[in-house]
Parts: sequence; structure tokens; C-alpha cells
Amino acid sequence: ATVTVGLVFGGCSGEHEVSIRSAQAIARALDSGSNAQKYTVLPVYIRKDGVWLAGATAESVLTAGVPPQETSDAPAATARDRLPQFDQIADIDIWFPVLHGPNGEDGTVQGLLTLMQQPYVGAGVLGSAVGMDKIAMKMAFAQAGLPQVKYLAVNRAEVWSNPCVFPKLCDRIEAELGYPCFVKPANLGSSVGIAKATSRKELEAALDNAASYDRRIIVETGVVAREVECAVLGNDNPRASVLGEITFQSDFYDYETKYTSGQSQHTIPAQVPEAIARRIQEMAITAFQAVDAAGISRVDFFYVEATGEVLINEINTLPGFTATSMYPMMWEASGVDFEELVDTLIQLGFERTGSSP
Ligand code: ADP
Ligand code: MG
Ligand code: MG
Repeated sequence: ATVTVGLVFGGCSGEHEVSIRSAQAIARALDSGSNAQKYTVLPVYIRKDGVWLAGATAESVLTAGVPPQETSDAPAATARDRLPQFDQIADIDIWFPVLHGPNGEDGTVQGLLTLMQQPYVGAGVLGSAVGMDKIAMKMAFAQAGLPQVKYLAVNRAEVWSNPCVFPKLCDRIEAELGYPCFVKPANLGSSVGIAKATSRKELEAALDNAASYDRRIIVETGVVAREVECAVLGNDNPRASVLGEITFQSDFYDYETKYTSGQSQHTIPAQVPEAIARRIQEMAITAFQAVDAAGISRVDFFYVEATGEVLINEINTLPGFTATSMYPMMWEASGVDFEELVDTLIQLGFERTGSSP
């Protein structure tokens, strides 16, 4: 008998569309080569409004690679509509959450699956939650001795609630971090809500904007650096891939640059000195363990070429997984092709959260 893989994709996040394309690539890989005899894919689509759909609708979204047309006269989903129909998914042997960002990469789906005692791919509740929240993530990195940019954690209430507090907050950011600084909602991805501030006016606007996305906000000193990434694969003895570098013409790697083809380029392996590459690979493993990730993660760095300094930027516990995403491409360049990669991730999922079938 084959292993039935519940591919959960879509989801309530700004990365809904990317998730569909990641799931499409993973489904194809599970249906090719030696995987085809081993696995059966059961797609489970979470609509933008939180409704879970298995069966024909999920199949067709996966085939199309884009969300279904929204009908404007459809009634709004109720809480009851959002309850998964578990009879449709009773055959699933292992789940593969392919959800990027909040409501999927952050421990929520992982908590549901843990509670249901279902095996799944990737990090558990803790690793997902710590990896998602940029403030918690940076605290874990600091504790593990990983160098990173200076930052301040800010609460929405300091930005919105009290007109006396806000100017003091801005003064403190200017004194401790200076300009340029980066203002980010703590729990997002794909650069959504992130702004670079070079003046008091821009800082105020950036804080106000970030507060509209999240209660928790992080402000960081801006660095001028090359952006280098490393893919990690494994559970208790994780391996690091060769490095990849992202380059672009825009001011920083913002949403538009990330998702408009031709606006960014990648180089794999990254052209950095051998010693730097080894240091980054070690730091990637340290970061993976610091947040308690499992199975899969992509760890992103700033490499300040002039000084040879390497700063960790972030970990992504469910990185983009399309055919042209960095995570699978870095493994491809390290000798693990796409089909073998998804097979390995599923085996790692069984190893950590279930018993091998
Ligand atoms: P996300 O999780 O949304 O990808 P990041 O923290 O990786 O958020 O920030 C997105 C991009 O913004 C980075 O890839 C980089 O181009 C730029 N950036 C973020 N923080 C800094 C910083 N402190 N200094 C310079 N550039 C930054
Ligand atoms: Mg991220
Ligand atoms: Mg990033």
C-alpha cells in the first residue's frame, strides 16, 4: 500500500498564492519517479477565509496553481464552515503543511496535528512559533551566541495608544539604532509590512504601518550587506546545503522584488570565501537548533563583505518550495534532487512525529 500524504496548502496569510505553487511542485514530485509507487497525494486546500476543502475543489486548485475565482454573492464563511470535515481526511498517513506565514508556518496547524496525534512534516509547535516571531527568534539566536543586527522590540500600544509615549519611543530608536532602520511586523513573511526608514517622518509612518499588521513590532539597524541563504535538512543531526545568494536592483528585498520575475537573481553556490561559507553553514545549524526547528528550514544571513562579518537575519521553517525556490535549488546543487528532497522530508516527519509505515 502507498503512503497517503495530506498536502495542506493555501491558508489565511499573505503568502496564499505562493503556498499553492509550492504545493503544486511538491505534489508533482510525489507523483514522479520512484515516489509515484510510494505515495498518494490527498490535497487539502485552506481557502483565504479559513474554510478547509478536500476532494475535487482542492484537486482543481492544485492543478490550476491559482486560487479559485471568488464569487461575490457567496455567503460569508461561518465558524462552523471553518471546521475541517475530518471524514474526508481519515486516510491520511502523514501531513505535509505547505503553508507560509501566519496560520500555518507559526505552530497553529502544527498544534492541531499534534493534538490529533497525526504525523507531519517539519517543525513542531515550538520551533514553528519561535521561528515565526522575529522578536522571539532573535532572543533565541542571541542566547545561542549568533551575531545579529541591533534591534528593539516594540509593542503596538506604544505606537498607537498614548500620544506621550510615541515621541519618546522614536527618540529611543534614533538614539539606539539610528538611520537607516528597518521596521517590521514581528509575525509576517514575504517582506509584507516592512519599511526602511531614513528620517523621523519615515520612522513614524513605518511604525504606524507595521502596527496595522501586528501587535508585536521589531525595529533593526539597517546594514549594507550581501544576502546569503543556507538550506537545512534533518532532525537531530541536521545537514546544511551549499549557500545561495540573492541579488536585486531595488533598495531592499521587498515583496515586489521577491515575486516579480526578473527583479531578483540568484547565484548557487554563492561566491564567498570557503571559510565564510563554512561559518555560515555552522551558524545555520546553530540557528535551526536554537529555535527547535525540525525537518526543513532556510536560514538567511547578511554578509558584510568589507569586514568579513556575518550576521544572521532570520530562519524560515516553511520556506518557499516552488520549482524555482531557493530551498529546493540549494539542495539540488548539494546533490539532493527535488524528488529525493520531498521523500526525505516525509521520512523525517515520520521519524519525529510518528512511526514509519
Ligand atoms: P521576511 O521574513 O518578510 O523575509 P526579512 O527580515 O527577511 O523579512 O526582511 C526582508 C528584507 O528586508 C531582507 O531580505 C532585506 O533585503 C531587508 N532587510 C531586513 N532587515 C534588514 C536590515 N536590518 N538591514 C538591511 N536590510 C534589511
Ligand atoms: Mg521570513
Ligand atoms: Mg526574509
